[in-house]
Amino acid sequence: MSRFWSPLVHRLTPYVPGEQPRIANLIKLNTNELPYGPSPRALAALREAADDTLRLYPDPEALALRTALGQRVGLDAGHVFVGNGSDEVLAHAFQAFFSHGEPVLFADVTYSFYKVYCGLYNLPYRLVPLDDGMRVVVDDYVGPCSGIVLANPNAPTGMALDLDTIRLLLERHPDRVVLVDEAYVDFGAQSAAGLVHDYPNLLVVQTFSKSRALAGLRVGFAYGQPELIEGLTRIKDSFNSYPLDRLAQAGALASVEDEAWLAQCVEQVIASRTRLSAGLEALGFDVLPSCANFVYTRHPNREAAELAARLREKAIIVRHLKGERTEAWLRVTVGTDGQCQALLDALREILHRNS
Ligand code: PMP
Repeated sequence: MSRFWSPLVHRLTPYVPGEQPRIANLIKLNTNELPYGPSPRALAALREAADDTLRLYPDPEALALRTALGQRVGLDAGHVFVGNGSDEVLAHAFQAFFSHGEPVLFADVTYSFYKVYCGLYNLPYRLVPLDDGMRVVVDDYVGPCSGIVLANPNAPTGMALDLDTIRLLLERHPDRVVLVDEAYVDFGAQSAAGLVHDYPNLLVVQTFSKSRALAGLRVGFAYGQPELIEGLTRIKDSFNSYPLDRLAQAGALASVEDEAWLAQCVEQVIASRTRLSAGLEALGFDVLPSCANFVYTRHPNREAAELAARLREKAIIVRHLKGERTEAWLRVTVGTDGQCQALLDALREILHRNS
């Protein structure tokens, strides 16, 4: 608390980022980073961009990157927005589209940053409960609203929605933006990017932080019709006219141009996820069907907080989110097969010791 803070700062409940410990030899399964490095072509482009051109401002329109991102899905650069991580793209979207006075609708268990943006921009919101199986109940997204936000796959559950469900919401709310946060879409869900042509109220947000292993570079992007992209650009240009620095633009562009690397990493993660889920089930855990690079899991008679603490003693960190609906669960990032096996071995030992 400070007398210098504005009432807004007093009111805020900021997002708490996942821990980034500095201890070596940790098995870090808490923030859904990829266990493999980024595309070697992206690394080479980054090295090449680190020269005396850094004295110059970057392209404020990030046109080469937006063009390449559009091409992947049959859209032009006018349908693409880029920002400093998808967190920033989301922040701009909340400000650009959701201040109509009615609540923003999102699930009661979803990415916890959505509430934070509502706090920051003073937007009312309504939490729409997931059902007992942690599924989105599409028929509950009704009534007056300023917009709808869906993470697909959802975080932290990892469960995906099909495109018919998203179409239904877009058609039910033609005057409101439906934002689909596809941070984890490459790991097995269907992207709504192909629907952008048909629905002027659809905004699809993706990131380089997960499947492209570039969390450290902070690059996110959105697909939408030019009307929505212009709304986002008006916010960006009132905030910071350079959405991405020169290195980020160069590295992200090379990453987009290396789809083979992406495909290989995704295939490996999906294979490891199948083994990890089976291993957890063999130890008696419930595991939700995941389309992401993490699994959401709980043990019927072990406290999740306690399991997380015991794992930490063994230098393995996973994410335990406090809150009524999440208290019993652990979110575990899919690591390498070696890391997943170490996790399973540790859990087996912990369960055995306590039984
Ligand atoms: N959306 C969801 C659902 C996420 O889990 C995350 C990662 N915490 C983000 C967006 C933000 O990712 P980034 O800012 O790294 O692009």
